Amino acid sequence: MNYQSFYKMTNTIQNYDWGSKTAMQNLFSFQNNSAQRQAELWMGAHPNGCSLLLIEGELTKLSDFIAQDPQLILGEKTADEFGQLPYLFKVLAAEKALSVQVHPNKQQAQEGFDKENQLGISCNAFDRNYKDSNHKPEVVFALTEYQAMNGFRSPAEILKHFQLLNILELEQLVEAFSDNLTEDGLQTFFQVMLLLEGEHKMNALQALSIYAKNNLYNPLFHLIADLETQHPGDIGLFSPLMLNVLTLQAGEAMFLDACTPHAYIKGTGLEIMANSDNVLRAGLTPKYIDVPELVANTIFTSVMTENLLLKEKSEEGWQNYIVPVPDFKFSVADNVSELNVKVNSAEIVFAVDSQVRLNHRNGSTITIKKGESVFIPAYVDHYQVTTSGQLARAYN
Ligand SMILES: [Zn+2]
Repeated sequence: MNYQSFYKMTNTIQNYDWGSKTAMQNLFSFQNNSAQRQAELWMGAHPNGCSLLLIEGELTKLSDFIAQDPQLILGEKTADEFGQLPYLFKVLAAEKALSVQVHPNKQQAQEGFDKENQLGISCNAFDRNYKDSNHKPEVVFALTEYQAMNGFRSPAEILKHFQLLNILELEQLVEAFSDNLTEDGLQTFFQVMLLLEGEHKMNALQALSIYAKNNLYNPLFHLIADLETQHPGDIGLFSPLMLNVLTLQAGEAMFLDACTPHAYIKGTGLEIMANSDNVLRAGLTPKYIDVPELVANTIFTSVMTENLLLKEKSEEGWQNYIVPVPDFKFSVADNVSELNVKVNSAEIVFAVDSQVRLNHRNGSTITIKKGESVFIPAYVDHYQVTTSGQLARAYN
């Protein structure tokens, strides 16, 4: 086998009903003649949408290529620790909100996966929570304004919102919460809210809807009214009152930690995540919600919005985002010429808004257009990048 330095990737676009018909077309000039909802572009070796590489004239799955020599292609350390490409790199274009969700930490994922296997729950069953034994930390990097919910507001702020609403159906619950403004109090409040059923749920949601429509001048209630058009009758419509709502500006990034509820609302961004499908849902979804399992995997500590943005460190032409997990790293560079990259693991380079050229001192070179990506095996050791725009780089 003649190993190349650079492999241009052919990536899968996933059409989901929350995806945008125009965002990827506008940003990357992707064809979308049949007006599909282009929600996600996947760059990686995940079996549900594995990228393809052109090798000796044949399109080959990235996973098959890696399997030929994981030590050489992933790098020894990554191959030993993960045995596969440990991350999935995506473009995400949301026009409608995604479900409110929580991801288990690594230990919880392992235990949950083992337990459901022992119980014999099939992997694609409606009520299956754990699809694999891995955690799913995520970083999102905004390419446009990117609105999301992430982490709990303080109990006092949540109480204030519900007191303002003054919903008869929730009176006792809100009063009990006001007597116990702690993490425990919030847990009980959150859990009881999610367990509301039948008439109680309907009445509470109807009161919320009326209040929201009468207070559209307030961005929070404007958002709830918008979300109601997407998810009528969904208990998740209360979530903006409990979770931080924030809008990242292009170039800002955020970490989505384990055990922390979050939801993407609208916008286009890059996302990099560990290889996992473990999602426990908490609203804005027709899918299964397992309240006890969700609560057991949730930390009820509040987070300040100013602490949600990911810190970046400028180093030798790169903006390196400080990601607190070993599964992946993420960097961007703007307007660089022959910027040197030392390779320690398999990398993916994505051209954000302009042409990007990579070259190696062995004479190899490749140029990609905006919206395209290159896979760089660990054995490459080093390369140089040049662009008059922005490039993003995923590695570990
Ligand atoms: Zn998530």
